[in-house]
Amino acid sequence: MTLTVLAPLGCDEVVRQLWPHLDGALPESERARIVAHLEACQGCRSHYDFAAAFLEAVRKSHAPDEFASLRFRVAAALRAEGTASR
Ligand SMILES: [Zn+2]
Repeated sequence: MTLTVLAPLGCDEVVRQLWPHLDGALPESERARIVAHLEACQGCRSHYDFAAAFLEAVRKSHAPDEFASLRFRVAAALRAEGTASR
C-alpha cells in the first residue's frame, strides 16, 4: 500500500489545468503535482508539449493584447470541445 501526501492528479484534471499551468497562474503546490504527473504520464506530456509549442508560436506572431484574447478564445473552445465529447 502506498501513501502519498497529496492525492495524485487524474489525467483529466491535469489537462484542465494545463493552460493556467503554462500561464504560471497556479500556486506552487499545484504546479508541483502537475509537473510530477507530466513526468510520469506520456499522454499528458504530449498534451503539454503541444500546448507549450502552440502558445510559444502564437505568442511570437501576435501582439500581447491580441494574444491574450486569442488564447482566451482557444481555451474556451477547448473547454467546450471537452464538455461536448463527454
Ligand atoms: Zn496523465
